[in-house]
Amino acid sequence: MTNTEQYQQKKQKTDFDAVVIGAGFSGLYMLHRLREAGFSTRVYEAGDGVGGVWYWNLYPGARCDSESIYYNYTFSDELLQEWTWSSRYPEQPEILRYLNYVADKFDLRRDIQFETRITAAHYDEENNCWSIHMEDGSSVSATYFISGVGCLSAANIPRFKGLDDFEGQWYHTGHWPHEKVDFKGKRVGVIGNGSSGVQSIPMIAQEAEQLFVFQRTPQFTIPARNHPYDPEFIQKTKENYPQIREQMKESWGGFPIAPSVRSALEDAPEVRQEVYETAWEKGGFFLTYTYHDLTMDEAANETVSDFIRSKIRETVHKPEVAEKLLPTYYFGTKRPILDTHYFETYNRENVTLIDVKSAPIEEITAKGLRTAEAEYELDVLVFATGYDGMTGPLLKIDIRGKDGLTLKEKWNEGAHVQTYLGIANAGFPNFFMITGPESPSVLANMPLAIEQHVEWIGDCVEYLRDHGIEKIEATEEAETAWSSHCREVADATLYPKADSWYTGANIAGKPRSFLIYLSVASDRIDGFVRRSLQRDMMAFLWCHSQRQCRK
Ligand code: NAP
Repeated sequence: MTNTEQYQQKKQKTDFDAVVIGAGFSGLYMLHRLREAGFSTRVYEAGDGVGGVWYWNLYPGARCDSESIYYNYTFSDELLQEWTWSSRYPEQPEILRYLNYVADKFDLRRDIQFETRITAAHYDEENNCWSIHMEDGSSVSATYFISGVGCLSAANIPRFKGLDDFEGQWYHTGHWPHEKVDFKGKRVGVIGNGSSGVQSIPMIAQEAEQLFVFQRTPQFTIPARNHPYDPEFIQKTKENYPQIREQMKESWGGFPIAPSVRSALEDAPEVRQEVYETAWEKGGFFLTYTYHDLTMDEAANETVSDFIRSKIRETVHKPEVAEKLLPTYYFGTKRPILDTHYFETYNRENVTLIDVKSAPIEEITAKGLRTAEAEYELDVLVFATGYDGMTGPLLKIDIRGKDGLTLKEKWNEGAHVQTYLGIANAGFPNFFMITGPESPSVLANMPLAIEQHVEWIGDCVEYLRDHGIEKIEATEEAETAWSSHCREVADATLYPKADSWYTGANIAGKPRSFLIYLSVASDRIDGFVRRSLQRDMMAFLWCHSQRQCRK
């Protein structure tokens, strides 16, 4: 009898080999990868369609801020050739169309159960399987339980006093209605100016009668300079996709752009200015690629931060408004933002910027919003207040491993998050996270990072089956080593200094810890090998995991 046959015989009869949460970029590819390998798989999705964040984020102005020709799956040559992006940074409907196209092309829908939310998953040690429970009271069992919940799907709606009494309509950008929200003739308030706020504010301003932006922290944002692609460019890209894909995999951020090896402090101020001007004109994230030490060294960072502040002063006509918009944190240590006419929007007569750092929001009233200084009457209130990132979506589900230990307990309510590679947890056999906390993901090109995780998990479960191994579980030692490596890399950078969703500081009461593996930085620290999106990482992690995890 072969190992695989022995494995099948020993394996507890379960409803499915694998259950996956979520039908976004992660869940769709995971389903395809597992099905191709012969595993029976079921995806559960809370929404009534595929798309994940791109299904829920329908707010005005929502678009991708990674260049579209790289922001897609690379696993299928056919798909790369068939799909054509219209512009550099496509809008949400186009990305959603792409994911629907993928779902149809690979016939994925037949294994996805929509409008079904997983609320709990408990490991049954005796039978070595996961028992998975849905909101509607049903449950199924599976050998492998895989999370594709995404890093940013648990909306942060700050608990302002009085929200229930608000007589107008209110929305969170990440749970936008599928019908158009009409701002015409309305007094609209937007709380928050991260990526979602910065994208939606210029669009809402064009339609609303009055727009009040409630800003707690001024943000650095860079012009996207979106433009349609011409057919020649698309044709060339398609011809070169095999090389482009290789370059993406070899890069530290998942884009085929070579990082600079120069320090910002090596260049004379005039030269540096020229470098920044050129990148600013190109738009997109080129500015972040200009020098290697922008997020490593305070003095280097000051040069680029000053440059962007000077652009804000140039763009915003009223000096007192421009002053309020000047960020003071280190550029890049909160997620960089791309915009289309964001700062220009503050030159409009119908837009008012309100600083809620100096005069905090005290309550939502029946008629609007009251800060420590004034009350603003509003018809519509938009929460662009972000997400309980990385851990939030997982902790919303009652996940229990061995001995009934909950993930919440294991991570000590978020005070001590520790994972192995951002994929596995000691005490939770056969449970995998796609782009979980401490994974190399959100600072890179997400679809590529997701592919890497999915392929790792796919290879892993195939290996288990082919070698007759019933379960895999991270050891505590491996987890501790990985976690301390993550912290070591982060602490060598400026990232932990910012109050961002990377650190959990954006959520009231959330313990602060750095929740992301900074693969980008590990590349630049002496003594660390490049560990993230290069081809060798799979091999490295796989060998490592076999040594550390195999029981
Ligand atoms: P975010 O970056 O966390 O921004 C949230 C905003 O809400 C911040 O301005 C924050 O202020 C403010 N805020 C939160 N709680 C508040 C409170 N109690 N009072 C006043 N202001 C409050 O969230 P996001 O804009 O939704 O973006 C999250 C991430 O999603 C991005 O970083 C990005 O990774 C992703 N995203 C990507 C795209 C894209 O691809 N184009 C688009 C949207 C989102 P503070 O800064 O003071 O905390």
